[in-house]
Amino acid sequence: MSILDIRVLGDPVLRKPTKPVTKITDELRKLIADMFETMYAAEGIGLAAPQVGRTERLAVVDVEGARHVLINPAIVSTEGEKEKAEEGCLSIPDIYGDVERPATVTILATDENGKEYEATGSELLGRCIQHEIDHLDGKLFIDYLSPLKRKAAMSKWEKAKADYPGSIRKVRAEVKGEHHHPNETEM
Ligand code: ZN
Repeated sequence: MSILDIRVLGDPVLRKPTKPVTKITDELRKLIADMFETMYAAEGIGLAAPQVGRTERLAVVDVEGARHVLINPAIVSTEGEKEKAEEGCLSIPDIYGDVERPATVTILATDENGKEYEATGSELLGRCIQHEIDHLDGKLFIDYLSPLKRKAAMSKWEKAKADYPGSIRKVRAEVKGEHHHPNETEM
């Protein structure tokens, strides 16, 4: 397995809609394993293919041990009142904002063995799944912010982005003896 570079805001790949996966190959399974490794190293709870510069309709999620491979995910239904909570994104480091989303989401997706499954997620899992599916449609959490909050977030990012030449974020591997703890706003 290897840790992949994360693409940050400014890389056009983050705004491109993805292409459905038509065949689950060994190469795709390696990409999935690498995406999990990258997500854990970056201390996130979700990661979508465009965030590592890829165009497959694929994302991975691990929320409190609920690990999901989302190949060609589609939202079947949403339930409950919309809930507001803070979100961040591995592709927009250090920028956070409140996003309103349906409390519960049911999706249909395929796993790494080619098996189609239905899953329902609430609270953080539901939020993370919706955030990742947005990535697959070229959408980012900052798109949901009010014009004023978005403007404030973007002026902060204008300064922060200098740390990521070429819109690339290098992720450091876990050092022996030190443990990474997922940050539940990073996805
Ligand atoms: Zn994200």
